Amino acid sequence: MPEFVITPPPQVSVPVSGGAAFPVRRIFCVGRNYAAHAREMGSDPSREPPFFFTKPADAVVPSGQDTPYPAATANLHHEMELVVAIGKAGADVAPEAALELVFGYAAGLDLTRRDLQDEAKATRRPWDMSKGFDASAPIGEIVPASAAGHPAEGAITLKVNGEIRQSGDLADQIWPVPEIIAALSKLVRLAPGDLIFTGTPDGVGPLQRGDVLEGDIAGVGLVRTRIV
Ligand code: MN
Repeated sequence: MPEFVITPPPQVSVPVSGGAAFPVRRIFCVGRNYAAHAREMGSDPSREPPFFFTKPADAVVPSGQDTPYPAATANLHHEMELVVAIGKAGADVAPEAALELVFGYAAGLDLTRRDLQDEAKATRRPWDMSKGFDASAPIGEIVPASAAGHPAEGAITLKVNGEIRQSGDLADQIWPVPEIIAALSKLVRLAPGDLIFTGTPDGVGPLQRGDVLEGDIAGVGLVRTRIV
């Protein structure tokens, strides 16, 4: 190892159910993967190819910790999502072989500065600062696929202060997990430690300081945070 001129960044990780931790390398996210959400955002939900954006690994907020309301927005939105944790490397993977790359799954939140995203869309600028900001990715414990299988259907819900805000089903994903992995692996070589947020059902909306979020995906688990 070289002698570093500054202290190297700490390894970000997510707890795995049953103990140990999953080290996070990169975070990829899928846009508009449920038809009703695509419509609520003003898009045509016909099967356009999936598209991707990213967040930095250190956007992770472990479930149970508070999430600071970010600077530079007046319209922070929740997006409740199934997260795939990649355990094996792969490039140009066929959908039929894609699930072999998966270590496990978690419930996560793709927090979004919606005002900045709207402005970026209108001015054809990048989404980085609307999506990839500090603490923009609260995530629950990862459940290994070896224990829980590969969920292709089941309720995905988000409660804010005990009230249901988002309620969907994984079966309503336009691009299911094997096709997401196949498409993304044609763009980048997937590596162990990568996380993929797989899109949100409809019902996205604004958050305020003090809001308590509890997301639940059947057969996968929970994500909990409070906006402070
Ligand atoms: Mn999203």
